[in-house]
Amino acid sequence: MRRDDLIRYTCRPLLEIRGLNLEFGTPRGRVHALRNVSLDVPAAQVVGIVGESGSGKSTLAYTVMGLLSENADVTAGSILFEGKDLLKIPTQERRSLLGDRLSMIFQDPMTALNPVRTVESQMIDIQHHEQGSRSEKRARAIEMLHRVGIPDPQSRIGAYPHHFSGGMRQRVCIAMALLVKPAILVADEPTTALDATLEVQIIHLLKDLQKEIGCSVLFVSHHLGAVAELCDRVAVMYAGEVVEQGSVRDIFHNPGHPYTRALLECDPGRLKKSTRTLPTIPGEVPNLLGSKQGCLFRSRCGQAFNRCVQDNPVEYRIGVDQVAQCHLLDQGRSASA
Ligand code: SF4
Repeated sequence: MRRDDLIRYTCRPLLEIRGLNLEFGTPRGRVHALRNVSLDVPAAQVVGIVGESGSGKSTLAYTVMGLLSENADVTAGSILFEGKDLLKIPTQERRSLLGDRLSMIFQDPMTALNPVRTVESQMIDIQHHEQGSRSEKRARAIEMLHRVGIPDPQSRIGAYPHHFSGGMRQRVCIAMALLVKPAILVADEPTTALDATLEVQIIHLLKDLQKEIGCSVLFVSHHLGAVAELCDRVAVMYAGEVVEQGSVRDIFHNPGHPYTRALLECDPGRLKKSTRTLPTIPGEVPNLLGSKQGCLFRSRCGQAFNRCVQDNPVEYRIGVDQVAQCHLLDQGRSASA
């Protein structure tokens, strides 16, 4: 391999999503859930996906994992993982990546754990790709339960999921997801069901384990504080599109898209004064039925102008490592456009 090719290859992101379009067939028509989504997840980095409910962030996570419902249809794009397009490889090959190279933590740990099997049997099963005897796998499971802070893991490993509290169950799920040392961990709102104290503990735990294992993480959350704490990069989604992405520092300190700015202004952690009513972005996420023209944020955007109705915004670079889709960023636009 030539040196230039070697540099390009080794610098390639671990996961490259390109031009991804996804639709759901419904009795009322086609719902365009993801539109032209492009996103990189570099090796050993944590990429946050933020946005309101209905913005498509969980749908994106499930698409990467190949866990979509039967009425979902990827109409364009690719998801390259370690050089292979996950959308094109045989189903069997894709399945064998799950729980091995690709692992997931779900929002509700009870839906991820089998309620009628002990944690021990589930943690041993998840290591089916690994070498070693059952007792060695059990020992690895106990060690991982210890790492995630389960007290007395020697005896607790024999318990059933309902014997654990919500926070402890999520720790068990994290232990299971990381036990296989995945290349990528997809975490779909893993702290949403937890109280604030537990959320902080789980975020710190994820951060420590991600560094220790060296995996990449795709972290879906509507909690901007958690994203700022955990992530290296962030992608902001609105109505199925990635409207802005870049390093956490750039996005949080110098947001370029009006929607990103509105999201940050509504973040309870950033409010300067105490208030009884939390601020919200006026209006609602648009209905995603059928094809759309113009900027999907225009009905809620205080800076919308004529062009926003007619033209779909394209991506503009606003920093070395930051891009956003908004007509205001077009340096060549005329003042009246
Ligand atoms: Fe607002 Fe127009 Fe930019 Fe959309 S393209 S965010 S409507 S200014």
